[in-house]
Amino acid sequence: MGYSFDSEDFAKEYHYDGLDLGASYTKEQTTFKVWAPTAEQVTLCLYKDGSEGTCLSEHTMEQSGHGVWSAVLAKDLEGVYYTYRVTVDGKTEETQDIYGKACGVNGIRSMVVDLEKTNPDGWNEDYLANRNKIVPAIYELHIKDFSSDPHSGVTKEHRGKYLAFTENETTLDGEGKFSTCLSYLKELGISYIHLLPSFDFASVDESKPLNNQFNWGYDPLNYNVPEGGYATDAADGHVRIREFKQMVQAIHQAGLGVVMDVVYNHTYSTDSAFQKTVPDYYYRLEEDGTFANGSICGNDTASERYMYRKFMIESVCYWAKEYHIDGFRFDLMGLHDVETMNEIRKALNQLPSGDEILMYGEPWRGAESPMIHDTMPALKANVEYLNEGIAIFNDDTRDTIKGHVFYAKEPGYINGKAELGEQVPSCVLAWCDGKGGYKPKNPGQTITYVSAHDNFTLWDKLNLTLYEEPDYYERKEDILQLNRMAAGMVMTSLGTPFFQAGEEFARTKNGIEDSFKTESAINQLDWTRAYEFKDLVDYYKGLLTIRKHFLALSSKDSEILEHFTFYDTNPEEAVVFSVRGIQAEEDWWEELMVIYQNTEEEKSYELPVGSWQLLCDGTKCVPEGIKSCEKQVLASGKAVTILGKKVS
Ligand code: CA
Repeated sequence: MGYSFDSEDFAKEYHYDGLDLGASYTKEQTTFKVWAPTAEQVTLCLYKDGSEGTCLSEHTMEQSGHGVWSAVLAKDLEGVYYTYRVTVDGKTEETQDIYGKACGVNGIRSMVVDLEKTNPDGWNEDYLANRNKIVPAIYELHIKDFSSDPHSGVTKEHRGKYLAFTENETTLDGEGKFSTCLSYLKELGISYIHLLPSFDFASVDESKPLNNQFNWGYDPLNYNVPEGGYATDAADGHVRIREFKQMVQAIHQAGLGVVMDVVYNHTYSTDSAFQKTVPDYYYRLEEDGTFANGSICGNDTASERYMYRKFMIESVCYWAKEYHIDGFRFDLMGLHDVETMNEIRKALNQLPSGDEILMYGEPWRGAESPMIHDTMPALKANVEYLNEGIAIFNDDTRDTIKGHVFYAKEPGYINGKAELGEQVPSCVLAWCDGKGGYKPKNPGQTITYVSAHDNFTLWDKLNLTLYEEPDYYERKEDILQLNRMAAGMVMTSLGTPFFQAGEEFARTKNGIEDSFKTESAINQLDWTRAYEFKDLVDYYKGLLTIRKHFLALSSKDSEILEHFTFYDTNPEEAVVFSVRGIQAEEDWWEELMVIYQNTEEEKSYELPVGSWQLLCDGTKCVPEGIKSCEKQVLASGKAVTILGKKVS
């Protein structure tokens, strides 16, 4: 070729803007297009089966400009599997299609698909009603964890699968006493289910039953295809697509949105479709020619390269359009460049009501990564350059409240390190006060949280900071109190609240910090425990209801900061503030008074003039009001107390 991937000559000659890469199906013909500018030859191979048998026919592809190779086959190829044989520098590799929309078992062959055929009944009418009015609260969930517990009330054949979401009115052991799975989430009051990776990943063998396999799925294989392990049949390429759509439809019918965790920053291995199709184009390389490893997963993709950026933009929009996805969470977003993230936001905004689609990500990376054009990484320090429609997980809030995420025994504000009290008002203000040294444009750019799938569960972390050798399964009142305090702080802070599934019922992984491939018995949601900690679940329900009826806390407007008044206290002992409402129709109160009492002892506070209702006393949270308070309130120790002033 004679010039480098990053030269202007390459850009002029080979950057391709067409939206037709992959297999474009009609009943009469299918057009295959693959971008392979360094290839000497590309051959299309058709197969009857997704993994077995030899090639039915081979078709030499023609160059059609800008490095694209094409073939048009004038027959109905629906359900036919295919690969490309790409020859570069005399070496031929066989690969699935980077742009493939369907695949066979374990994703090694793509499949031509008529997507209409995969739509469940009513799919064209499927959408999330009143999405523009939703008060966001995000629940982070792994598909298998959701229902694999034999007590989940889900039928055996659907446990751990997409279809578990389609079962209505499931209860613990089917006894009708305590709701489980989707019925439970409907009652809980969250508004978005954030699914851990559910595109096709490589670490689970789809040809074997899912029962004895578990992985979070941060090892992408086919970005535009759902994972096969969660389907009832991974071998027929249609089934995973249809069942994924059935899941989305069921979640929408429950009034909840669907967020996908997307992992564009690395691929399962460097033996990938990307590397086989255009060697070394899609990845960052170190100067010595080895693969960069900022992901700590063996490779980093290059979002700053034109054709990978294009791939990411199209892939995200494809999920939004074809699968009706309501939000995207970007894994290790700090490995991507700011421009790519902003371009994705712009592309989503151009879809119908696309500006309502959530975008947020981890503003960090495992290690440094050599960006090719010296572009700006989407790290926390650069949040001000990200479009205001892109939020970041705030690790400062997380670590301030409960303690450092990597050092198990290191406590936070509530569990032993009271000096962090200075930072608590910044947590409340979603760090929009600039005191973190970075500048979110407004609270809409912050995800406020204390637990996620990574690291210890909140329950385990609190146990580790209080006990030498904790029994995680025991119900401990002191840990429960701290759990309620942490949740109370998250739910009365600005930003979008987010929590790991089960945080609300003291989920434990028995102290296991990194459970990405740990057995299901440890990972799965334990629905019996949910029942046993029903009081904690009710407490979370109360907090979520308060947020729904006091919209100031969910405001994305930077001017909302002016609604907060912090009272003069020693922050090591207590942080006390009031928030003036925005007079929304949904609001039950015109003002909230919030006390984070960090001492063990209770303390009495004078209340401003007005008719106050005690909504949360640190043990119970009752949005309709526990009792009236005038002039003063007694705030419990190690607790969040919330009072609401009635709308007059
Ligand atoms: Ca897979």
